[in-house]
Amino acid sequence: MRTAEGARQLFLSRFGAAPSGVWLAPGRANLMGEHTDYNGGFVLPFALGQVTAVAAAPRTDRRLVLCSGQQPGSDVDVLLDDLAPGAVSGWGAYPCGVAWALRAAGRDVPGANIAIDSDVPAGAGLSSSAALECATALALTEVAPAGSAVPRRKLAAIARRAENEFVGVPSGIMDQSASLLCESGHALLLDCQSLESSQVPFDPAAAGARLLLIDTRATHRLAGGEYARRRAECEEAARLLGVPSLRDVPGPAAVERLADPVLRRRARHVVTDDARVLQVVALLRGPACGSGDAYREIGRLLTQAHESLRDDFEVSWPEADATVAAALAGGAFGGRMIGGGFGGSVLALAPESAVDSVRGAIAGAFARRDWTAPEFLDAVPSASARRLT
Ligand code: ADP
Ligand code: MG
Repeated sequence: MRTAEGARQLFLSRFGAAPSGVWLAPGRANLMGEHTDYNGGFVLPFALGQVTAVAAAPRTDRRLVLCSGQQPGSDVDVLLDDLAPGAVSGWGAYPCGVAWALRAAGRDVPGANIAIDSDVPAGAGLSSSAALECATALALTEVAPAGSAVPRRKLAAIARRAENEFVGVPSGIMDQSASLLCESGHALLLDCQSLESSQVPFDPAAAGARLLLIDTRATHRLAGGEYARRRAECEEAARLLGVPSLRDVPGPAAVERLADPVLRRRARHVVTDDARVLQVVALLRGPACGSGDAYREIGRLLTQAHESLRDDFEVSWPEADATVAAALAGGAFGGRMIGGGFGGSVLALAPESAVDSVRGAIAGAFARRDWTAPEFLDAVPSASARRLT
C-alpha cells in the first residue's frame, strides 16, 4: 500500500530507524444524512479506500515527535505533560489532541516518534482529520510493548474529543465512528441519538454501479459561521415544535406548523433527510438489494437530498450544483453534495457504463465556466482502521 510505504520511508529518513509498526485509518464519505448528526438523527457513512498511515515507534523521554508528508518543514516536538487545549496550533493539534484525550480518558500514553502519510485529500469533506486522529489513536494505544487496544466506540469518542476540545472544531461523532467501525463492502447506519450502529451491505460494483467522488476544489470562507447558524436554527425549530431535537419530529407534515419560513425549510431538510437515510437502508437490505434497480432508486434519493440541501438548508455552492447537474446529464443515477457545505466534494452514483460520460460532462461544465478542474476519486466501501501486519 502506497501510503503505508510512504509513512515507513518518511519515518526512516526522519528518525534513522525502522518504525515498530504502521497503522492505517480511512477517510469517509457519507451516503445519506447531512446535518442530521447534531439533530440526533441518522447518518450512513462508509470508509474509503483512501487512508492516512501512521508509522510509529515508542520513545522513553515522554516526548511526541511528529512529521507528515503533507506538512513538510513543520515538524512538531512536544512533551506529553505540556499538552493542553491551546498548547499546539496547526496540523499537530490533531495528533497531539489524541494523545491528550487518551490521557484524559485514563490511558497511559508513551512518548513516540511518528511519521504520517496520506492519500485522503485534506479539506475536501472526506474527513482527513478523523483519518489522522484515528490512525494516531490506534498507534498510540498499541505502539508501546505494554499497550493494549481500546474498544473502538470508546476510541471514536476519544478521537472526537480531541477534535472538539483540543483542535476546537465542533464536529459530531460520525467521522471517527466511520473511520473506526466501517466494514469493507458495507455502510454504517449510525443513530446519533442512541449511538447504536449496524452494518448495511453496500457493494455498488456487484450491481454494475460505481460511486464517484468529485472534489470540486472550492472552499468558501463562510463555512464556519454558517455551520454554527444552521445548528442554532435547528435548535430553535425543535424548541418551537416542542421536541428535544428534530429527530423526534413525527414526520414532514409536522414542520409545516413552523410560522417562520426559514426555520420551516431548515427543519424540513433534517426531517426528510432522516427519512431518506432509512429509505436507502431499506433498499440496501431489501429484496432488490444487489440489483441495478436498487441503485437507480438510491441515485434518485441522492439527487432529492441535494435539492433539499440546496433549497431548504441552503448550504450548497455553485460548483456542487453544476457537478450534480452535469452528472445527471452524463447518465448518473444521481448525486449530492456531501459534508457541511460551502465547499468540498460531491458523491455521484452511476451505472458502470456511464462513468466516462459522467466524468466528461462534469469536466466540461467546469471548463466552460473557467473553474479550477475538479479532482475525480473512486469511492469504494472499504475496511476501517487497522494495524498493518
Ligand atoms: P477534512 O477533515 O474534511 O479533510 P478538516 O479541515 O477537518 O478537513 O481537516 C483538515 C486538516 O487536518 C488539515 O488542514 C491538517 O491540519 C490536518 N491533516 C489532515 N490530514 C493530514 C496529514 N496527512 N498530515 C498532516 N495534517 C493533516
Ligand atoms: Mg474534518
